[in-house]
Amino acid sequence: MERRTLLGRLIWQLGEVVATQPETARTKSITLNLPGWSGHRAGQHVDVRLTAEDGYQAQRSYSIASSPEEAPRVTLTVERLDDGEVSPYLTEELRVGDKLELRGPIGGYFVWEAEMGGPLLLVAGGSGIVPLMAMLRHRSAAESTVATRLLYSSRSLEDVIYRDELDRLMKRSTMLEVAQTLTRAHPPGWTGYSRRIDLQMLREVAWPVAQRPLTFICGPTPFVETAAAILVELGHEPARIKTERFGPTGEKHDGE
Ligand SMILES: Cc1cc2nc3c(=O)[nH]c(=O)nc-3n(C[C@H](O)[C@H](O)[C@H](O)COP(=O)(O)OP(=O)(O)OC[C@H]3O[C@@H](n4cnc5c(N)ncnc54)[C@H](O)[C@@H]3O)c2cc1C
Repeated sequence: MERRTLLGRLIWQLGEVVATQPETARTKSITLNLPGWSGHRAGQHVDVRLTAEDGYQAQRSYSIASSPEEAPRVTLTVERLDDGEVSPYLTEELRVGDKLELRGPIGGYFVWEAEMGGPLLLVAGGSGIVPLMAMLRHRSAAESTVATRLLYSSRSLEDVIYRDELDRLMKRSTMLEVAQTLTRAHPPGWTGYSRRIDLQMLREVAWPVAQRPLTFICGPTPFVETAAAILVELGHEPARIKTERFGPTGEKHDGE
């Protein structure tokens, strides 16, 4: 109900693609200039609508990767699913100068603003890093020193999105720690984790329960459910664990 009311007030707007940036072999960042953009909060998403020549329309949700400070430019990072309908077009066909129809920002639950404090625990699986990156970029732009830990699970090192930027952010802020796990392949000399997220890993990486971290988990539905259940098992307060699932569009997800 809340979603319908909220979307009722949102209008579709045209953004112009001003830059595209391959992030990994499967993911690309798309930066749009949106003159009518009302601003957003880190963690929110937009709906993107594609219209074919025969009028057929397809609509999908994409998290905003850029910080609020970068408005009216908005960056999305899309992972290509080979058998998908929308993501191959966004990652392979879209060019600088093209127009893209979108509406947003959407979602008021899975958001973090510097004044909300921390400590902050971010847990990402695959492209689930996108809204968490918006939070990290916002944290950096706002010069926040909120103690932050990111646990990021990828299939292989080549699949790590924003790898260089994460390194730079970590070097710049002593209050930011990044732990990586690679689930399928890891290079020689890899010092991070080499398995799926489990209780032992979260016990090592998460803040102690007594510090009452504010936690954001994002990724595929099974990943999010596993990570959230483990944190609750470890004693973290469910009310301080916020989740965003990258399930099929139209599926009900937290905060709506
Ligand atoms: C809030 C939110 C934020 C998101 N943010 C991002 C983001 O930042 N980046 C990102 O890359 N993605 C994000 N997503 C996921 C995104 O919305 C799309 O789901 C994704 O890009 C796939 O879309 P697609 O059209 O390419 O694939 P689809 O055509 O939707 O297909 C997706 C998968 O479902 C399977 N499938 C399709 N139809 C059926 C069917 N009838 N029966 C069985 N299986 C089927 C396909 O084989 C495919 O593997 C987000 C999702 C949500 C809900």
